[in-house]
Amino acid sequence: MKAVVYQEPFRVTVEDVEDPRIEQPTDVVIKITTSAICGSDLHMYEGRTGAEPGIVFGHENMGVVQETGSGVTRVRKGDRVVLPFNVACGFCRNCLGGFTGFCLTVNKGFAGGAYGYVSMGPYRGGQAEYLRVPFADFNCLQLPQGDEHEDDFALLADIFPTGYHATELAKVSPGETVAVFGAGPVGLMAAYSALIRGASKVFVVDKQPDRLRLAEQIGAIPVDFSQGDPSEQIKDGTHGEGTDKGIDAVGYQATAAAGGEQPAVVLNTLIETVRPTGMLGVVGLYVPADPGGPTEAAKIGELLFKTGKFFEKGLKMGTGQANVKTYNRQLRDLIVAGRATPSFVVSQRLPLHAAPDAYQRFDKREEGWTKVLLQPGR
Ligand code: NAD
Ligand code: ZN
Repeated sequence: MKAVVYQEPFRVTVEDVEDPRIEQPTDVVIKITTSAICGSDLHMYEGRTGAEPGIVFGHENMGVVQETGSGVTRVRKGDRVVLPFNVACGFCRNCLGGFTGFCLTVNKGFAGGAYGYVSMGPYRGGQAEYLRVPFADFNCLQLPQGDEHEDDFALLADIFPTGYHATELAKVSPGETVAVFGAGPVGLMAAYSALIRGASKVFVVDKQPDRLRLAEQIGAIPVDFSQGDPSEQIKDGTHGEGTDKGIDAVGYQATAAAGGEQPAVVLNTLIETVRPTGMLGVVGLYVPADPGGPTEAAKIGELLFKTGKFFEKGLKMGTGQANVKTYNRQLRDLIVAGRATPSFVVSQRLPLHAAPDAYQRFDKREEGWTKVLLQPGR
């Protein structure tokens, strides 16, 4: 089958690779209908991680079940399903507690597993024609048959639940004000989720005009950080107090955007932006520190965090991978009910062979390249 394969920094190709097969009785193999490119793929694409050549990318996957292992009882051939980007067992202590992003079974030595992601286990990605899904009865979320809402449902694999997770980490309540840093797909989904949860004012900080326009379109207040300190701009809009809650949907990308100069720029700006006793939800990715590791990113894992200011203001903070399974069923049902249309972020739907060019353009954040869906059937 064809798949998107990482070759070296800034280069992926579409290659023939071996077809996936049932390896465990609890596996299914799905025929991919949509697999999205994520900002998280760019960490590997730009060579900031230890990703080895040969990895098949793709952790935002949906499709139709093609084959089931002998131990699969709930999911059936022909089911239309979307997979959380987290590969999770469903029976370990963390999964039982709802923390499927931190499954203790699938990936020894690192918290949590994912498809097509360096350090997150041996699972091949779904930017391909087929994908093996482990612990399929647990991981597959069934969808209405047909092809309706394909773009909305595809976002249930990661960015919609991840955006929602950010608002859950920050415990966004009705009437509250929220500052979201990053108007990438994840930040936009966090802003959208904050509005769904009844926030009164949601500020979205970025410098990309097309992304800020999307934020405005859903009813958020765009803040262009290239026009002056975003924290001051937001304080001006909140009677000088700062917001109740803050969300980091940038992570160490901020360092790349700032020319490698200001690690932790977003977290520390959030500490300034949120009012005393507020809460922060951090879904932007910070790679773990790896002493002696090969990349700048590894150093950023131990970043220059303003602990004193954090303490002085009595802030609270939640971090980490989204536990997609905790939210995807409810978010699916909002889509089915017509109460959520997350696909407003989708900018391109492309065949698999367009991936190398799409990666380049998404990576450069070219105008109008917000969220790319790869659809092998096109
Ligand atoms: P993206 O790169 O498309 O978006 C990041 C946005 O941040 C860009 O629009 C960029 O212009 C903006 N930005 C850069 N510096 C900034 C600054 N100083 N202030 C405000 N905005 C700034 O990526 P994405 O797909 O939206 O993902 C965002 C982050 O979320 C990434 O770090 C990704 O790895 C992470 N992520 C985490 C999870 C999770 O489960 N926790 C899941 C998916 C993605
Ligand atoms: Zn993703």
